[in-house]
Amino acid sequence: MSRYPEGVDVAIVGSGPTGAAYARILSEEAPDAVIALFEVGPTVSNPPGAHVKNIEDPALRAQAQERSEGPGAGSATVNSPGAVKSGERRARPGTYLLADGYQLAGEDGLPVAAFSSNVGGMAAHWTGACPRPGGSERISFLPDLDELLDEGDRLLGVTTNAFDQAPFTALVRERLAAAVDDGRDGAARVQRMPLAVHRREDGRLVWSGSDVVFGDVVRENPNFTLFDESLVVRVLIEDDRAVGVAVRDLRTGAEHEVRARVVVVAADALRTPQVLWASGIRPAALGRFLNDQAQVVYAARLRDVEPPPEDQVAASGALSEQSGVSWVPFTDDLPFHGQIMQLDASPVPLAEDDPVIPGSIVGLGLFCAKDLQWEDRVEFVDDERDSYGMPAMRLHYTLTPVDHAVLDRARAEIVELAHAVGEPIGDRPFTMPLGASLHYQGTTRMGQADDGRSVCDPDSQVWNVPGLFVAGNGVIPTATACNPTLTSVALAVRGARRIARDLAAYPAPVAERA
Ligand code: FAD
Repeated sequence: MSRYPEGVDVAIVGSGPTGAAYARILSEEAPDAVIALFEVGPTVSNPPGAHVKNIEDPALRAQAQERSEGPGAGSATVNSPGAVKSGERRARPGTYLLADGYQLAGEDGLPVAAFSSNVGGMAAHWTGACPRPGGSERISFLPDLDELLDEGDRLLGVTTNAFDQAPFTALVRERLAAAVDDGRDGAARVQRMPLAVHRREDGRLVWSGSDVVFGDVVRENPNFTLFDESLVVRVLIEDDRAVGVAVRDLRTGAEHEVRARVVVVAADALRTPQVLWASGIRPAALGRFLNDQAQVVYAARLRDVEPPPEDQVAASGALSEQSGVSWVPFTDDLPFHGQIMQLDASPVPLAEDDPVIPGSIVGLGLFCAKDLQWEDRVEFVDDERDSYGMPAMRLHYTLTPVDHAVLDRARAEIVELAHAVGEPIGDRPFTMPLGASLHYQGTTRMGQADDGRSVCDPDSQVWNVPGLFVAGNGVIPTATACNPTLTSVALAVRGARRIARDLAAYPAPVAERA
């Protein structure tokens, strides 16, 4: 007996925020469409896809993180940039690293390229920063980009005021603004970071995951079903069209075929090209232009601040939020995206007789846009398998002289920002191992025309494969420095609208016709 249907209208692969965005828009705009969503990982939170930070019990939260770590579960993880400094190759909680193929001879590689395998994908573990792209980060051939980003905000539940009560938040912004705002227009000035979070009436923060993207519309849609622990091994192709998926039920090991009018692969920027490759869909640009945001971090101690009132410091001894999250937007002149947020502790030990004012230690992070290269790519090896039995990955990745120059500038800039807010902690900023940003992009990139340098059209439909859509950060064609999820959810909205509009024009699944 199979737990899967024989045929559906839309099969979605992957339950991260971009797969969830397809389910949401289709539930809103094509409520009669029968949708099946397949997720290789288990359900680790309630409602399905919820952020694990919302799980109050630390032991249950740690369990949910470990269950998200797929084949890496049980390996030691790190939590703060400070721990990465030790030089160990470790994943963040809720994620796991590639066992091999992450750094090839003579190349920089992406040593800490990571994945999450759980309902909700990486967005059950993310920080929720949702800045908008600016300048060259924007996709110039999408005239509706701003409206799509508004929709992305709606789906992800983005707010800007969750930390307005935090006592140091305005001060941090003021000090950063004094250092960088001169000559910038409104949108590029220092501001509150838009965050996928809201505050409940009792004051607790609720972080958005795919549960928020699904919303009640999907949860109450009788035509929608989510199948966890279900690995899509390939897309079924007939007459050069996508006609369904082959899915392995990880509970039984049995493989089944589910026919569909349309297939959406939203399996992250490294596994979406893997599914296409495994299906024999191998356009020249597949896996190419792989890009990640090199990241420089530093910490500073806010100067001239008074301790916040006792009642604003959480009773458990843990810190409540004092300094919020601030954003220094990317500009083409200063090609970094800056994220400045409170750290729970100093990344380097401070003198014992040096009491720290709660919330006065802030972490500064600058993310750099990559100099895009055709040669930076994820390749797949047919005769070698990964731990799920899919074609093994090889990551080819090299920083160019332009990348090194941008990184040098970022290291200088972050020192200035640290001095602007207070006293830097530690001798110099730290450059994170490549892959640490968790923002892999470009591998199934969107293009305006089928010129061999893109994988899908502006609606995310794969060139020359009707019925096959791709989703996720891999679709973003520009080199962004800002956190990419809002942008990839916006692109998913466009693709989902196209499917909702044209669904009847795609051939019905064979099982349904019979
Ligand atoms: P994912 O969320 O990765 O989901 C893909 C899903 O597909 C996974 O659940 C996976 O198990 C599933 N899958 C893969 N292959 C298959 C298959 N063959 N069959 C079935 N299922 C499959 N981004 C931001 O924009 N802002 C941030 O502040 C931010 N902070 C982050 C902090 C952390 C600690 C982490 C881990 C990530 C962070 N990110 C952030 C990145 C963000 O989470 C991702 O950009 C986002 O989740 C990508 O969404 P997605 O739907 O494309 O892919």
